[in-house]
Amino acid sequence: MTLASHLGAPRHAIFQQHAETIQTPCLLVDLAIVRKRYEQLADAFPTGNIYYAVKANPSKEVIRLVRDQGGCFDIASRYELDKVMAEGVAASRISFGNTIKKKQDIAYFYQKGVRLFASDSIADLKHIAEAAPGAQVYIRVLTEDRPGADWPLSRKFGCEPEMASRLIKQARELGLWPRGVSFHVGSQQRDLDAWAAALDRVKTIFDAAWRDGIALDLINMGGGLPGNYLHSTPKIREYANAIEAALTDRFKHVPVKLILEPGRYLVADAGVLVTEVVLVSKKRDEGARWVFIDAGKFGGLIETLDESIKYPIYTNKDADNAETDAVVLAGPTCDSADILYEKFRYQMPLSLDAGDRIYIVGTGAYTTSYSAVEFNGFPPLAAFYYDSEAVQAVSAAA
Ligand SMILES: *Cc1c(COP(=O)(O)O)cnc(C)c1O
Repeated sequence: MTLASHLGAPRHAIFQQHAETIQTPCLLVDLAIVRKRYEQLADAFPTGNIYYAVKANPSKEVIRLVRDQGGCFDIASRYELDKVMAEGVAASRISFGNTIKKKQDIAYFYQKGVRLFASDSIADLKHIAEAAPGAQVYIRVLTEDRPGADWPLSRKFGCEPEMASRLIKQARELGLWPRGVSFHVGSQQRDLDAWAAALDRVKTIFDAAWRDGIALDLINMGGGLPGNYLHSTPKIREYANAIEAALTDRFKHVPVKLILEPGRYLVADAGVLVTEVVLVSKKRDEGARWVFIDAGKFGGLIETLDESIKYPIYTNKDADNAETDAVVLAGPTCDSADILYEKFRYQMPLSLDAGDRIYIVGTGAYTTSYSAVEFNGFPPLAAFYYDSEAVQAVSAAA
């Protein structure tokens, strides 16, 4: 496989035009793919309201695209809020989805017009009641740890179902408007049953609220939908079918507003990180080749931690008949944690040398936003946005 066959010839040709002019390392993002993913998602979940999880790729280009598609935004900080509102997004299309927040930031969101807040504790709920009186809240419930998620998100956020039920009641007592329940099954979730298991918990909480005289009507299913990496995943249709069936089983007679918060799914596949080989060397004569590239764990590739996310990787020397061997892949900084893949060995051409290019595919999510600002003096990961279905590039951002 080569990059050209991965992207398809027409897209690859446009990609190459841009890749030739940039200085590495640089993330190239094709907005046409983001648009396509948005449309596929809206199509697969016709009753779902899409709240883009901005943290996955907070560029103004992606924010504008989601805005123009009519999407909403899941925001985690006042800085993300400012950025999204600067693009003319109305507060009614924004939720404050972070359960860990300062009271003065709640007040800031409220003052800007945001009325929908996530919570998972009585301490936070009291802050919301004081700083955002009368606001709508949904309670994040913990999900069980399941092995299907390549990047688990379950332990830090949410509370046990019994506590969630209590918080719903307390929200009402505090003068808030308890709307429903949220969860996140873990990012890059490959197990389709994860949603049904989480929805069982949501159902328990809805039933308990009903017995307390509270009619909940919002289910926020968070993220978890996948990007295309080395491990294959079910198709979006299969996710939609499994989730739709799980919802119908449990909430057939309950009218619910359904929220989806895709991050990775919308942007991952749109990005190719273009890097250059700094050096190819060995630790001992008979040892494996180490390929050092100019982007690493601190330059946007933090999701290689524990080799969790395995990106498809190509080189400019790839060819069907190229001789290859298994290499260790590492970044350029002076921290020994900056090894990308050592247990898992990528095959790379024997002819690979300093100055060659390595293309890391599927890097549109959780790269620029995770990149360090100055470790070893390296600047944050640059990004360039273009639209392979439009005439001209949209803009460049460093
Ligand atoms: C990070 C996050 C998401 C996005 O998750 P993905 O798996 O990238 O889709 C959605 N909702 C919340 C609350 C998040 O923290």
